[in-house]
Amino acid sequence: MKILVPVKRVVDYNVKIRVKPDGSGVDLANVKMSMNPFDEIAVEEALRLKEAGKATEVVVVTIGPAKADETLRTALAMGADRGILVKTDDTVEPLAVAKILAKIAAEEQPGLIVLGKQAIDDDSNQTGQMLAALLGWGQGTFASKVVVADGAVDVTREIDGGLQTVSLKLPAVVTTDLRLNEPRYASLPNIIKAKKKEVAVKAPSDYGVDIAPRLDVLKTAEPATRSAGVKVGSVAELVSKLKEAGVL
Ligand code: AMP
Repeated sequence: MKILVPVKRVVDYNVKIRVKPDGSGVDLANVKMSMNPFDEIAVEEALRLKEAGKATEVVVVTIGPAKADETLRTALAMGADRGILVKTDDTVEPLAVAKILAKIAAEEQPGLIVLGKQAIDDDSNQTGQMLAALLGWGQGTFASKVVVADGAVDVTREIDGGLQTVSLKLPAVVTTDLRLNEPRYASLPNIIKAKKKEVAVKAPSDYGVDIAPRLDVLKTAEPATRSAGVKVGSVAELVSKLKEAGVL
């Protein structure tokens, strides 16, 4: 069985986001970019399934600018077998990503597609769900455990107030939650080896997908700054201040 893992290049999770002065979006100039953390978890899970003999090949795919090749190389250094870069400098919304991934799935015929539950830049949490719908496959979202056996995948899902386990017939779509696993670091020799692994370069038009945005971003704003705190001298003063503020 082949596993397809879509990985997105996003602003590194340690970076403090700067909003562009005109509010049209986030400033990406000279900002450190990395693989979306949930996608690292997806790559790790695919590699573990391969190591356990449940899969034969792990193919990683990204849709983004030429520099997204670095994201693919990170996945290849972790151990993925080959990559597909669908190159575009345009903004690609989740629906367009899902449509391209559906076309790639038709070509590659994976038994499983493992995505992140959300990309930390747009926080959409849509692509995996849309992809499963376009393919007509079952979906197990927010996975904290994945077990593949006998043509099916059992996915334990993190839901409000507990866990739910669903069984999906393969092929299927799984999206990863934070507690699924701890991704490995790539070793230096593997980083060097990854430079030679195969990456096919494509364009959205190769898949006949119109990536024109369906959404207008009206405004992007920084979170409101917190006002300064006050130091109180005693418990009595604290209680009276809370009463004044209507908290008590
Ligand atoms: P989202 O629906 O945008 O929150 O993204 C959910 C998941 O879809 C991500 O964690 C990735 O696995 C995948 N994904 C989203 N955008 C892309 C992209 N441009 N290239 C590859 N995978 C993507």
